[in-house]
Amino acid sequence: MKAFAMLGIGKAGWIEKARPTCGPMDAIVRPLAVAPCTSDVHTVWEGAIGDRKDMILGHEATGEVVEVGSMVRDFKPGDRVLVPAITPDWNSLEAQAGYSMHSNGMLAGWKFSNFKDGVFAEYFHVNDADGNLALIPEGMDPVDAVMLSDMVPTGFHGVELADVKFGDEVLVIGIGPVGLMAVAGAALAGASYVYAVGSRKVCADAARAYGASEIIDYHNGPIAEQVMKLTNGQGVDRVVIAGGTVDTFAEAVSVLKPGGIIGNVNYLGSGDTVNIPRIAWGVGMGHKTIKGGLMPGGRLRMEKLAKMVTSGRLNLSHLVTHRFKGFEHMEESLLLMKDKPRNLIKPVVII
Ligand code: NDP
Ligand code: ZN
Repeated sequence: MKAFAMLGIGKAGWIEKARPTCGPMDAIVRPLAVAPCTSDVHTVWEGAIGDRKDMILGHEATGEVVEVGSMVRDFKPGDRVLVPAITPDWNSLEAQAGYSMHSNGMLAGWKFSNFKDGVFAEYFHVNDADGNLALIPEGMDPVDAVMLSDMVPTGFHGVELADVKFGDEVLVIGIGPVGLMAVAGAALAGASYVYAVGSRKVCADAARAYGASEIIDYHNGPIAEQVMKLTNGQGVDRVVIAGGTVDTFAEAVSVLKPGGIIGNVNYLGSGDTVNIPRIAWGVGMGHKTIKGGLMPGGRLRMEKLAKMVTSGRLNLSHLVTHRFKGFEHMEESLLLMKDKPRNLIKPVVII
């Protein structure tokens, strides 16, 4: 079959590969729509998780089931499915401990385009189909559906990590598609004010639509200074980090009130250490918590998030700025994600 793959660090291209085979609990799926992720960019062009040879890229997809294993109960060929970016091994000890995203090793619930072939192919393999697939709800736009693979669950997980409570003032650093879903999630969780950091107008407009009270451009001086000014020197209760670098944590710690929590979902593609400012961290005693996490995947999560869309609670229409028709556009869509033109939030390829 034809597929678009990482050939080595800094190199991606089309390859021919054997169609995957189906184990007893698995499914083989044909993509209906796929999207590239900024994580694929970190993986290929920053070599952030090391070298990979001829590994098929992509982990955001909806698809049609073409084959299921003998033990699969709830899915059959022809079903149209949501596929989460994270497909845990649900019988692992880590899943039993509540951290399914790290099933069988740190980050190992993230299989597609990490250590297993991804979804930018004519067919892809899904482990534990009953645990990891969900039916696309009747009438859901397939372009919206593909945002449920990764962008919605990741942005919302940032909000869960930061444990946003009613009335909290929340800073969201980064308003690409992930940060935008963190803005939406913070608003849904009851934030009073949401300060959103980014510079592209298209993202700022979408952030306002999702509930941002103020937009902060990080080119206009340190984020911390701008936040302190907006909050009359008080700082914020919670921070979600969905963009920036290893240096962004210093800004986040500086504006956090004692008792505050930082939820990071940014994939740190480069830099050896994350610096925590000693004084701003209360010389080690400030009760400022820093958490970071990979999004939770799996079927229940997909089904619940899909209901937020079908109920009208979550409107995904602001996320997708570029739509392509045809398998051959996978390469172009990934390069767009790498180059981040100023009018881009997220591209989707409909197949
Ligand atoms: P984008 O690149 O689209 O967005 C990044 C945002 O960060 C933009 O708003 C950008 O602003 C802003 N930004 C860039 N540099 C800085 C800076 N120095 N300080 C503050 N803000 C800055 O990324 P995505 O939304 O697609 O993804 C966000 C991150 O989430 C990525 O690292 C991705 O790999 C990761 N990710 C993590 C997952 C998880 O499970 N934890 C899953 C999926 C993705 P500007 O407007 O100027 O571009
Ligand atoms: Zn991703």
